[in-house]
Amino acid sequence: MKVTIIGGGIAGLATAYSLLKHAALANLPITCTLLESTQHFGGKIRTELIDGFIIEGGPDSFLSYKPWGVGLCRELGLGDRLMGTNTQHHRTYVLYNGRLREFPEGLVTLAPSQALPLFMSPLLSMAGKLRLLMDLFVAKSPSNGTDESLASFFRRRFGAEVFERLIEPLMTGIYAGDAEQLSLRATFPRFLEFEQQYGSIIKGMLASRRQRMKSDTGTQPKLTTFVTLRGGLVEMVRALVASLERTGKEKMLLRNGVRVTGLTQASSGEKPKYEVTLDSGESLSSDAVVLATPAFTAADLLMSLDSGVAEQLRTIPYTSTATVSLAYPAASLSNAHSLKGFGFVIPRVGDHD
Ligand SMILES: Cc1cc2nc3c(=O)[nH]c(=O)nc-3n(C[C@H](O)[C@H](O)[C@H](O)COP(=O)(O)OP(=O)(O)OC[C@H]3O[C@@H](n4cnc5c(N)ncnc54)[C@H](O)[C@@H]3O)c2cc1C
Repeated sequence: MKVTIIGGGIAGLATAYSLLKHAALANLPITCTLLESTQHFGGKIRTELIDGFIIEGGPDSFLSYKPWGVGLCRELGLGDRLMGTNTQHHRTYVLYNGRLREFPEGLVTLAPSQALPLFMSPLLSMAGKLRLLMDLFVAKSPSNGTDESLASFFRRRFGAEVFERLIEPLMTGIYAGDAEQLSLRATFPRFLEFEQQYGSIIKGMLASRRQRMKSDTGTQPKLTTFVTLRGGLVEMVRALVASLERTGKEKMLLRNGVRVTGLTQASSGEKPKYEVTLDSGESLSSDAVVLATPAFTAADLLMSLDSGVAEQLRTIPYTSTATVSLAYPAASLSNAHSLKGFGFVIPRVGDHD
């Protein structure tokens, strides 16, 4: 069976890795070709080493509580390279009314020890804090877990103030999107589950904290919520490419600098074959094709095969982002701020003059 994977970002590379692993376990004769339009593999993952700094142009970390990223690193022999965030300096700030104020950590950890700082936080009014606690009593949505926007969900559970000053800047920053449009199920499904299962996010978070503490056997090193690799996320890309190359070209062909321009079905028999056309005019025949490109590219490629799916893919909005990395000698900074933290977010609300 011939499989063609279009796109050499982390999704395409991980698909190739998983496909070959499972084919080997099941003794299936699979040959795989991965096609990447640019010269480098990794897609959005771009790590550069400049003057001793590890600079990430795209993602800089991933969530450790979703087991697949960490699991893949361990399988690739990168377990020792995993590193967490610096727990000494893991504060986040919110720029509110011209001042950097610490994000109340208790809202993330729900640790009893953090309850007091949360209720002392100048970021929220007393009414806002009390409304946050109302989450314990607000009835769950009668919609039985159907989707809603991030904005509607958190306003309903925590109130407008907590949503606008804390939740919106933090969560929509992650997706560079509009909270009124972002699907809760697609972005933070855990919270939907907490509401359905426990009737309250606070109760759900406390229960999940208890479970985590119970299941912590102490055998695996504890990971912080966000993790990366010592030399940057490019290490994962390099390890995947090396592992795929070790399989041998007859089973796994990695090709970069080739853009896929067309995808058609070659026969209408029982087992359809696909023709993948490249910008060079070359065409590849394939039994199965995996699209691991951005949705708008997948839409273009699928148009002649399934216009309905293509139209749906085209409705997924994308936005552009810019990453600017600046480094300053410590001595050139005033002591106005200790700089001990991850960074800061800026809510839409508040006085920004
Ligand atoms: C600035 C930024 C910061 C981010 N930070 C984080 C973070 O900290 N943590 C996190 O988990 N996520 C983060 N993300 C999201 C994460 O980077 C992406 O979700 C992930 O890298 C997407 O991987 P992918 O393989 O699906 O797509 P991509 O990485 O987009 O890969 C798609 C590949 O397909 C190729 N391609 C496109 N068209 C064709 C074609 N016609 N023929 C052949 N190849 C084609 C492209 O060149 C590309 O290499 C961030 C994203 C950005 C932009």
